Amino acid sequence: MPTASDRTAWDFMPEDWTLRPGFENDYERAEAWQTPPGFEPITQLEFARLGVITPQMQRVAERESHLTAVQVRDEIAAGRMVIPANVNHLKYQLDPMCIGRASMTKINANMGASPVSSGTDEEVEKLKWAERWGADTVMDLSTGGDLDACREAIIRNSTVPIGTVPIYSMIIGRRIEDLDSQMILDTLEHQANQGVDYFTIHAGVLHEHLRLVKDRLIGIVSRGGSLLAKWMIHHDQQNPMYTLWEDICRVMRKSDVTFSIGDGLRPGGLADATDLAQLAELSTLGELTERAWRQGVQVMIEGPGHVPLDQIEFNMKLQRRLCHGAPFYVLGPLVTDMFPGYDHITSCIGATNAAWHGASMLCYVTPKEHLGLPKKDDVKQGCVAYKIAAHAADVALGIPGTRDRDDELTRARAALNWQKHFDLSFDPDTARAYHDEDLDVDTDFCAMCGHDWCSVRISKEIQLFASGKEEEYQWDKARVTAALTDEQREILERRGVLSPEELHRLASKTRKSMGADNGKASCHSDVAPAPKAQLLQIVELGTGNA
Ligand code: SF4
Repeated sequence: MPTASDRTAWDFMPEDWTLRPGFENDYERAEAWQTPPGFEPITQLEFARLGVITPQMQRVAERESHLTAVQVRDEIAAGRMVIPANVNHLKYQLDPMCIGRASMTKINANMGASPVSSGTDEEVEKLKWAERWGADTVMDLSTGGDLDACREAIIRNSTVPIGTVPIYSMIIGRRIEDLDSQMILDTLEHQANQGVDYFTIHAGVLHEHLRLVKDRLIGIVSRGGSLLAKWMIHHDQQNPMYTLWEDICRVMRKSDVTFSIGDGLRPGGLADATDLAQLAELSTLGELTERAWRQGVQVMIEGPGHVPLDQIEFNMKLQRRLCHGAPFYVLGPLVTDMFPGYDHITSCIGATNAAWHGASMLCYVTPKEHLGLPKKDDVKQGCVAYKIAAHAADVALGIPGTRDRDDELTRARAALNWQKHFDLSFDPDTARAYHDEDLDVDTDFCAMCGHDWCSVRISKEIQLFASGKEEEYQWDKARVTAALTDEQREILERRGVLSPEELHRLASKTRKSMGADNGKASCHSDVAPAPKAQLLQIVELGTGNA
């Protein structure tokens, strides 16, 4: 496996900063450097290099309770962490967050109107919905409708950083072949002034890389990558984003826009993963990282979208080596290609693995991937899948405090405290609805095993027995619990098409039989003492043997 790079952003300082004598072997700190006359820091990277803790670093340390503000500053100075916080977005509602290996794994939700679907209002609604379901950043990938108004509305309404792929706006109303340097810089300047926090720029796709994709099964699947390939072939010139890199950096530095250097040659299928084209581009991304750091601009790197499970670790470690630890932001990756409609799951498996081996942010994939524009529920499904991936990796990485809520929920589960169980759940409404569709009172068991076979209830009794509190405890003879009633079976069969409200309505018969239909029963002992609960199952539900 590739080993970590032994260099950081401290090795790629601006040309006009000078190293003070005596610090040649101790240059990874502010005291070692002399800035040019009149220098004013703008970006979080520049402040960190000067040893300054900004309000945004302070806020990040509050949100990442295992990190101090000094650690946040030092990670940013080393280039291993970014705070995507455009100075123009900070004027609105942005709540600063960070992306980096030392912090918790983040997730991004993509949205945006397409030429055939959605509009500004719907995209703002999706933004709020994605925030509700835990998106740490949102990318506006609109390619249709009023792009400018949509972006403006999203920036004004978001508390999370907003990313864009500016080349989409550059070609509205013109052919890609007509794109020139001025149009590129003007568009970037405009979006930077609007408050976009990070730009995906596909500068790593070089003219000489294009021949490497000819044997691929699916060629170039990145929109930005394919558009720039067409421009290079038409003009027989190098990628303009690559040749303009320092000019682009200067535009971005003025508002502290962070780079998300795009992977225009990412594989679009397992068969194309880790091929020469992808690796050649990754090497160029390393060079672009060094050049951006020299201009004082924060950098993260985008990563591959379809990678077999056994190649993920190699990909993560190679990126960390070639890009000197700059945060890696990966799309999935999908670990199999044959489950369209379920790619939030195929990619979630890859994303968990990627985060475990080095990725810092996971770009969600929804069930609509490859099939259509995600709607609200697809956004929720994608966000939930990726919160699971990020959290699972953070638990495995041992980030202090990450597992506390898991353990608390396990305690509530062991106590058969349903309300607390739901309150601690990531999605309490769904958990409650699934529980209530068969048994909408809080009993010392649920419909999965039933009273007689509920191992948690039996364990609870054993603990009471072992504690000596239940001296009269007698082992019951195990009884066979019948399967579901016809009504319960009907509810389960229709579950996929029923709303939580309909489920609650259908499942209300048990609530009535327990006399708890005037409000939610709060706990077993309040409403259903053990004998009554047993009776409920045996007589009322007909699922037990007398
Ligand atoms: S009935 Fe089964 S699934 Fe339900 S709480 Fe008891 S052990 Fe868990």
